Amino acid sequence: MTEVYNKEEQELLSSCTLCPRECRVNRFQEGSGYCGMDAGMNIASICIHRGEEPPISGPAGICNIFLSGCNLHCIYCQNHDISRPDATCRQSKTTLEATLDIIESILSDDIKAVGFVSPSHVVPQVKAIIRGLNERGLKPVTVYNTNSYDKPEVIDALDGIIDVYLPDYKYVTSGIADEYSDAPDYPEVSLKALRRMYYQKGSTLTCDEAGRAEGGILIRHLVLPGHIDESKKVLRSIAEELSPGMHISLMSQYHPVPFVRSHNKLNRTLYKAEYESVVEAMESLGFRNVWVQDMDSYKNYRPDFRKEHPFE
Ligand code: SF4
Repeated sequence: MTEVYNKEEQELLSSCTLCPRECRVNRFQEGSGYCGMDAGMNIASICIHRGEEPPISGPAGICNIFLSGCNLHCIYCQNHDISRPDATCRQSKTTLEATLDIIESILSDDIKAVGFVSPSHVVPQVKAIIRGLNERGLKPVTVYNTNSYDKPEVIDALDGIIDVYLPDYKYVTSGIADEYSDAPDYPEVSLKALRRMYYQKGSTLTCDEAGRAEGGILIRHLVLPGHIDESKKVLRSIAEELSPGMHISLMSQYHPVPFVRSHNKLNRTLYKAEYESVVEAMESLGFRNVWVQDMDSYKNYRPDFRKEHPFE
């Protein structure tokens, strides 16, 4: 397993301090850190995904790599089947070569981007995949689809490797981040990570003639039921700490997963009035590069990772 990593990556994985959890476990021996993942290629699915924002999916879709495990354990996680410690569809132990073969079979003149979904706990694996693709003469647009619980130095080291950042910005309130994602430091950690992405890319999102993103940042925010004030604070933070010129995807697709069916706030989908209120706030803050969703979008974003094509 060590042969796919360079010396620096081997050292990092031998006593893992990759993410802010800093578990210091040897991931070549076991996956006993908070994310539960060892140093292998633990991949739940590699598939064509057409359901991302238009510049991310493009007309034909993106080759998304859904990585197993996560360094956040959000109680409402929409991908809980592959991310949580008790996930039922985690798949592991594929090889780098097999991974590259699948990606190569999907990439085409129409599908030019590779998206890494939940990569924060497996950045060395992500880098190994990109190196492997480059060695095969493939130079896809690389998309880092992150929860933003990333160390600043990790984002710095992705400069020149990642073309498009697709970060979540979930909360600005420590108590909410603690209760929902077991990460009270999420607000400060994610803001630092976003600043480093902004430093690299600015507020532009450059696209090719077909409308496919080739470089830049698109920030995602999932509006949670009963938390519109938090969503407005998140948007204000982006406007004040980064720029109202940032590209924003404001998501209404929340749906309650089994773990939160009895939660007093998270046990329902979003009300139309809640979403409209946040959209209005976003416009008042001066954001113009935005994507908003239909209120019934939650019906279209419920992947089933037991299937070969989880979104179809
Ligand atoms: S990547 Fe995983 S093992 Fe490493 S510090 Fe983060 S949670 Fe712990």
